Amino acid sequence: MKTYISLWPAAASLPEFPRSVAILGATGSIGASALKVMDRHRDLFTVTALAGGRNGTRLAELCATFRPPFAAVLTDAARRDFLANLPAGYSPTLLVGPEAYTELAAMDGVDIVLSSIVGAAGFEPTLAAARAGKMIGLANKESLVLGGHIIRSACHESGAVVLPVDSEHNALFQGLQGHGRDEEISRLILTASGGPFRGRSAQSLAGVTRAQALAHPNWSMGAKISIDSATLMNKGLEVIEACHLYGLPVSMVHVVVHPQSIIHSLVEYVDGSQLAHLGTPDMQVPIAHCLCFPRRVEVDVPRLDLASTGSLTFEEPDLEAFPCLRLAREAFDAGPSHPVVLNAANEVAVDAFLDGRIGFTDIAATIGAALDRHAATDVSTPETVLELDREVREKIRHSI
Ligand code: NDP
Ligand code: MG
Repeated sequence: MKTYISLWPAAASLPEFPRSVAILGATGSIGASALKVMDRHRDLFTVTALAGGRNGTRLAELCATFRPPFAAVLTDAARRDFLANLPAGYSPTLLVGPEAYTELAAMDGVDIVLSSIVGAAGFEPTLAAARAGKMIGLANKESLVLGGHIIRSACHESGAVVLPVDSEHNALFQGLQGHGRDEEISRLILTASGGPFRGRSAQSLAGVTRAQALAHPNWSMGAKISIDSATLMNKGLEVIEACHLYGLPVSMVHVVVHPQSIIHSLVEYVDGSQLAHLGTPDMQVPIAHCLCFPRRVEVDVPRLDLASTGSLTFEEPDLEAFPCLRLAREAFDAGPSHPVVLNAANEVAVDAFLDGRIGFTDIAATIGAALDRHAATDVSTPETVLELDREVREKIRHSI
């Protein structure tokens, strides 16, 4: 077993401040939290590139504030909106299309790539950053689910550093500091809020609406991850993410439901000690930790006051009402191509649910059926990963 702690180059090889940052997914929820942190600490960062997807207007607003020399959008429509909304006298170099993100991720002069595109679209840019030896703030968990083995070996070769932005994995990362001996770890415990439907029976979930599923009790996030949280697929993807980040088998990564989202995860050592990370649930905290690592900086979030929080509670996840967590664990155990199928089926099913084409419980059913149909294939290269991803999406789109 190897952890990223033992995989890192010496801390001295982390970039000096001010650090030059490219944010992929700048127009999203993680992008907004990252820009809040960077705005508060302008002396520590240079914003070199901001990349959005389809929302050119929002990207133009962000660029007007932070004035990066490079920007990127996905579509021609977004390019038009972007250009129409730029302030006079400022014209960054604009890249357009899917290749823009890999180009920015590997660009000379960029120290940190914040990988915060949603979904499988984040895989190639994250891999490009890994191959280019960047310091990567990784929010895009889907890229590890698709090809954690490929990203890991790219990091080994280039000396790239992956710092986990996902709050649970950031908590684990902090709990693992200074304990580089793999045999001392007995298990990792990921906390899960349980989402908006915690406590509901499997039958009662069939008719839930889009709005109900999007209403996360503790975190404000993009639509896809909010639905993943409601199905517990988010926790399933996070179990796989943790296995890749910390080089552990799935049997050593546990999940406990903790509705208050105050404890963000725990590391258990062989002596029985459990080290927990606590804090107000706000993504600025793990983002600041990654962007500034190993330095700690002030972040504008309310301080945690345990006396006024009162009680913290814990329960087992209900795998009957929320089968996605079980499907993800099984997919990781089944081998590297099954998680690719799991992820592709989930993305198509979540889109279909958000568009009103399938019901909430059809999401897990669609993923389960795709995994049942799948016979393990070779996914040792990025091309084979992406080909399988494309095939699965096509088949499921036809069947929905
Ligand atoms: P959002 O939906 O809020 O933002 C997604 C971002 O990705 C937007 O900037 C969007 O651009 C961009 N984007 C979408 N599709 C593409 C594409 N095909 N090519 C390029 N860019 C694209 O998502 P979140 O910020 O919530 O989540 C981002 C990632 O971070 C996800 O992987 C999620 O699992 C992870 N994460 C999020 C957390 C959170 O609290 N939000 C917590 C932990 C992890 P546009 O809107 O302009 O189209
Ligand atoms: Mg998380």
